[in-house]
Amino acid sequence: MYRGRFAPSPTGPLHFGSLVAAVASYLEARQRGGEWLLRIEDVDGPRSREGAVEAILGALAGMGFVWDGEVVYQSARGDLYQREMERLGGLVFDCGCSRKEIGEGRYPGTCRAGMAEGKVLRARRLRVTDEEIWFEDGLQGRFGSRLERDLGDFVLWRADGGIWSYQLAVVVDDEVQGVTDVVRGADLMDSTLRQIYLQRLLGYRELRYLHVPLVLGEDGEKLSKQNLAPGIEVGEAADLLARALRFLGQEPPEGLGLVRLWEWGVGNWDVRRVGREKFSTGHI
Ligand SMILES: [Zn+2]
Repeated sequence: MYRGRFAPSPTGPLHFGSLVAAVASYLEARQRGGEWLLRIEDVDGPRSREGAVEAILGALAGMGFVWDGEVVYQSARGDLYQREMERLGGLVFDCGCSRKEIGEGRYPGTCRAGMAEGKVLRARRLRVTDEEIWFEDGLQGRFGSRLERDLGDFVLWRADGGIWSYQLAVVVDDEVQGVTDVVRGADLMDSTLRQIYLQRLLGYRELRYLHVPLVLGEDGEKLSKQNLAPGIEVGEAADLLARALRFLGQEPPEGLGLVRLWEWGVGNWDVRRVGREKFSTGHI
């Protein structure tokens, strides 16, 4: 049974880039007769904006998305993440490095053998290896890297605010929720490598991945809640859905209403038409 999911973080309203990812994952799931789950990734409490969850759920419903089962909230699942992190045993180490000390590059392994005297606990990190991790993406083809050389030991938990990392929460939830397929933006391909590494350590199932092009604004920047990309207006739902489909390389007929357009989408979705570039300003 195919089981897909869409997992927005409630740091602002749903913008066009998130809509594109949601449409792609929804149509992949529905065309295969699969389920489509909705999960709110609100582990990062302080950044989650008041009212954003309601706004996102309202926008998705207004766009005509129908999800299966109850919405899952990561903020309620800390005990589960804790339990799974403990299973990683000695591969998890305490890190006292500040963001400034680490800089922009990969984490150099400073605290692997213990924090230097006088440091305070800032994060728990997972030790990675130099073995190549790779996967066959449903759209992008083979993608891999060596985590130790390219990405470094990554954070599982932050002491400041007691925040579970995106990587750990996503991996645990996808396993527990029985997700089989992940369709999301191509900006997350490095995260996928970290997540596969974690899945293997925890003895989880392997997932299939499909990374669709990320929507860039006219300025060439990624649309994001942080740079205040405007939220979608569901009053224009049919037009928005048609634009999302065109961005994804599909060619819906002109002038269909929302319900007919979804029917067309489920019947005619063809992932081979989606562009293979990782970033695109598309036809938006
Ligand atoms: Zn450190």
